[in-house]
Amino acid sequence: MAEVKQAEQKFRKTESGKRLTQLMTEEYTALHRRAGEGAFVVWIAIIVPAEIFSGFKNVVFAVPESHAALSAAKGVGMLQCEKAEAAGYSMDICSYARIDLGTALSGGKDSPTFGLPRPHLLVSNNNNCSLLAKWFDVYHREWGVPHFLIDVPFCYEGQKDRDRAYITAQYRDLIKTVEQLSGQTFDLDRVREALRTTREATRHYKRFIDCAAARPSGITAFDSFVQMAPLLTSRGRPGIDRHFAMLADETEERMRSGLFPVPGERYRLFWDSIAPWHQLRKMSARLAGLDANIVAASYTSCVGSHEGSYELLQSYDGGDPLEALARAQNFSVCPYGLNLRVNAMTRAARHYGIDGFVFASNRSCKVYSIMQMDCLRTVSRDLGIPVVMIDVDHADVRTYSEEGAFTRIEALLERIDAARQRAG
Ligand code: SF4
Repeated sequence: MAEVKQAEQKFRKTESGKRLTQLMTEEYTALHRRAGEGAFVVWIAIIVPAEIFSGFKNVVFAVPESHAALSAAKGVGMLQCEKAEAAGYSMDICSYARIDLGTALSGGKDSPTFGLPRPHLLVSNNNNCSLLAKWFDVYHREWGVPHFLIDVPFCYEGQKDRDRAYITAQYRDLIKTVEQLSGQTFDLDRVREALRTTREATRHYKRFIDCAAARPSGITAFDSFVQMAPLLTSRGRPGIDRHFAMLADETEERMRSGLFPVPGERYRLFWDSIAPWHQLRKMSARLAGLDANIVAASYTSCVGSHEGSYELLQSYDGGDPLEALARAQNFSVCPYGLNLRVNAMTRAARHYGIDGFVFASNRSCKVYSIMQMDCLRTVSRDLGIPVVMIDVDHADVRTYSEEGAFTRIEALLERIDAARQRAG
């Protein structure tokens, strides 16, 4: 009876899942509506602090990377990539960029959100990856839209005071740019409020992903990938903190009721790379069939953290919000040197009690993949935990072989078993 209940629950959409769908639908609907009513539209890279735009009454922002991930998850990634390739963009370019270019070139056709409204300003940064700046430059050239690039120093260690001051000064330039282009005035208090909302949302998101520390885990990393979306598209918006509070509450309640995504969990794995958006359901179901769960990922465990850690940033104390945003500018692992990456991964792996690492090599995201072989060797040597590397593009299904990947993952599980037997 308990098994039947478990199986029923597994395929039933949770309340937070339903709420997420509604939230994202409302988000994209409002974006198009407000753009149609004359709002100033900014396209941003995911690491650009979106809270800054809350300082203006009638500025909306869209996140092409997030839209590309959604497109891949909805099964139209390959279609949009092919449109970009037909226009001459190489298959070696990031699949997010190809999806976005394919969507824009076809006027939003086939997009799950009817594309994105045309921007008045593009804002990117160079700490996540340099490709992003080139990608936004295409629109700058083709559409004549201004492109503001935030220059963020790469981090081989924790952020220095002078780096923070340098980044904050650029935020002030960005604010002036938006004021000049949009004719609107900026209000710092609105940013303060947006930042408080984001920090609350992040605190609850961390509480949610921390459900992975339990045995069996209360979530899969795939849940954390999907639920991350509002942290990218809706940062600072009133209400997202409530969504994440309810998400964490509901997940904890499910665990108290004995509901776990992989009830017979024998292998707790850690994922290193971007989410495989086109495989979320398939991969998690096949892993569950092997009693394996990818419980955590470097991609999501770093959210809301300082360089080289996974712990939550201290809460916002009401000081200069621009400085606080600059301090959090390096939360994603992409701008980390090797030591910081390994450090963040090691701390997260210890916290979640990881049995094995899956390094997802992804040729279209060079910045994520380029250090993986060194990371793999280092964590394998220092932690003595079995590791495997598989090939999977984050958004283009054509380069992925399910059988090839699972042959390796199953070999990893056998190595975990062998290590357990040796340890007695
Ligand atoms: S970090 Fe990777 S996935 Fe993101 S835009 Fe750059 S190349 Fe693409």
